[in-house]
This record gives sequence, structure tokens and C-alpha cells, in this order.
Amino acid sequence: MKAIINGKEIDTYSIDDEIICPHCGHVHKYDPEMFAYEDIEFDDVEFECGECGEVFLVSRRVSWSFNTYKNED
Ligand SMILES: [Zn+2]
Repeated sequence: MKAIINGKEIDTYSIDDEIICPHCGHVHKYDPEMFAYEDIEFDDVEFECGECGEVFLVSRRVSWSFNTYKNED
């Protein structure tokens, strides 16, 4: 999503384990303990910015990748 922060358009979508506050642009490094959710995927969880204290919504998306190799024994 795009957010306007101090007149600048910021893309708050991150693929690098970063949660970007749409209010102030502060970047939180993702830590699984931030969320008390066991589910791999969840929608719209409230999160309080550690910098400005504003509450915003976070949705987490997980993508899987697969690698294969021969099982040689
Ligand atoms: Zn903030």
C-alpha cells in the first residue's frame, strides 16, 4: 500500500521482513514474537508503532519456495 508521509509517497509493502509504519515511515524489523498468532497467514492485525505510537493494520503474507535435489545414499 502507498502512504503519504510528510508529503512524500511511501510504499509500505515490504518483502524484507520489515513492517513500515504508514503514519511516520518507521521501519520495524519483523520478529515472530511481535504477533501472538500461530497461523502462517493472517489479515489485518492491529500493530502499534514503536516510534510514533499510532496504531495501524498489518497483513502478513507468506510465500513458499521449493528446492529439489536427488536423494543419494
Ligand atoms: Zn509510526
